[in-house]
Amino acid sequence: MTQSQSEPQVLRNWIGGQWIASAATSYENVFNPATEEVLAQVPISTREDVDAAVQAAKEAAKSWSRTPVPRRARVLFKYQQLLIDNWESLARLVTLENGKSYTEAYGEVQRGIECVEFAAGAPTLMMGKQLPDIASNLESGMYRYPVGVVAGITPFNFPMMVPCWMFPLAIACGNSFVMKPSERTPLLANRLAELFHEAGLPSGVFNIVHGAHDVVNGILEHPGIAAVSFVGSQPVAEYVYKTASAHGKRVQALAGAKNHSIVMPDADLDLTVKEIISAAFGSAGERCMACSVVVAVGDIGDALVNRLVEAANRITIGNGMEDGVFLGPVIRGPHKERTLKYIEIGENEGALLVRDGRKDAACSGEGYFVGPTIFDGVQGGMKIWEDEIFAPVLSIVRAETLGDAIELSNRSDFANGACLFTQSGANMRQFRETIDAGMLGVNLGVPAPMAFFPFSGWKKSFYGDLHANGSDGVEFYTRKKMVTTRW
Ligand code: NAD
Repeated sequence: MTQSQSEPQVLRNWIGGQWIASAATSYENVFNPATEEVLAQVPISTREDVDAAVQAAKEAAKSWSRTPVPRRARVLFKYQQLLIDNWESLARLVTLENGKSYTEAYGEVQRGIECVEFAAGAPTLMMGKQLPDIASNLESGMYRYPVGVVAGITPFNFPMMVPCWMFPLAIACGNSFVMKPSERTPLLANRLAELFHEAGLPSGVFNIVHGAHDVVNGILEHPGIAAVSFVGSQPVAEYVYKTASAHGKRVQALAGAKNHSIVMPDADLDLTVKEIISAAFGSAGERCMACSVVVAVGDIGDALVNRLVEAANRITIGNGMEDGVFLGPVIRGPHKERTLKYIEIGENEGALLVRDGRKDAACSGEGYFVGPTIFDGVQGGMKIWEDEIFAPVLSIVRAETLGDAIELSNRSDFANGACLFTQSGANMRQFRETIDAGMLGVNLGVPAPMAFFPFSGWKKSFYGDLHANGSDGVEFYTRKKMVTTRW
């Protein structure tokens, strides 16, 4: 590990429109995963810090919740412009703290901006409904209101996009917000807060408390918080869902994944290989919509495996800041160790290691790099098939028919996304109607919905009722009054 020449900056919490030193007694290093350089120190804040943020948010909610919706939307429009003006520096920050390539980081910033654009439609999104004659001289109307103080807890893998699934829409709907970013990627969150303030958001409407478990528990149990949005790994999502609901809160908890891509014998191989390489190894496989299992149907298997290995051999591994780099590091040393362990497990389970990312030069140098790794001959039930590895490791399973491939995919506990590569409408229809997954792609590798549609994982990939984004997001961040009137 190398240390910056100057002492790393100690991050502060953003509470009530000011940078406030945390009451923390412990701190964690924030690393650049490509160089192992310490970028900053993040405070492991306390429940007192959470309480201070909730009090600031409650105070701000008094006027923000009553601010006319078009005026709230105007702040979102200003914010959108500031994010566009700062697009490149935001993308650099994503690459710096997360490790993904600058090109991908740039795309991630776009996804975040799109969420702000969707939220700026609040005047339309928040409209109610009326029926003038439910009986003689009797009318009924539905009006939407904010829920109060909302909290968001986010993962490391999309420091820009995932927070933007939450706070812009919640705030546009008139809520105030307390965010706990991943302690592994906390830098971008601070920049998001600064720019929102610059856009004219009143102090206290958006707050950030840095930290880990104590902050999460402080949020889940705080009586002043009405709703919790969570995105992260499956065990934590389940814990957050159960604990926050037990404390009377609304919860949406988006969790882990093991996404299968089924490749039919009639698939366009050029397109399929390009899409799968990008979906399996882009962002170092650290995407909840990553393709981690390919199911090769019928006689396409050998050609597909050969083409994937050839394409993986051409991938440029390195610091995401450098031109031409496609595969950056995984997030931390222990995550790299865990990934290498999974490669060993796969070998011991009898899968065929057709490309070994441990042999790439980058894997033995500075930074948390693992080269693209491909296993063929993987069977359903093996650990490398079952577990979310969240790294550049791809498993290939062979199947005889589309029905067999779908049946295998449906055996996974996870059901975030699934893809099909085919030229046949009949295959597409069978896939759409029988696959158990919430986000489907046909002839593309990462079927992540845009901000105006819900991000709709199923099974253990999601806990709750209303998903993030789109109309689900509006429902989640508002509550309704039904007014029945006789004149
Ligand atoms: P993580 O679960 O380790 O952390 C997520 C958040 O929970 C962080 O803010 C962290 O501080 C907190 N946390 C972690 N452990 C905790 C504990 N024991 N108690 C209380 N809080 C805890 O997830 P991560 O490694 O940052 O992110 C990767 C995971 O997120 C993957 O599983 C990925 O699939 C998932 N993810 C899912 C989606 C989706 O839309 N379904 C999107 C992005 C990421």
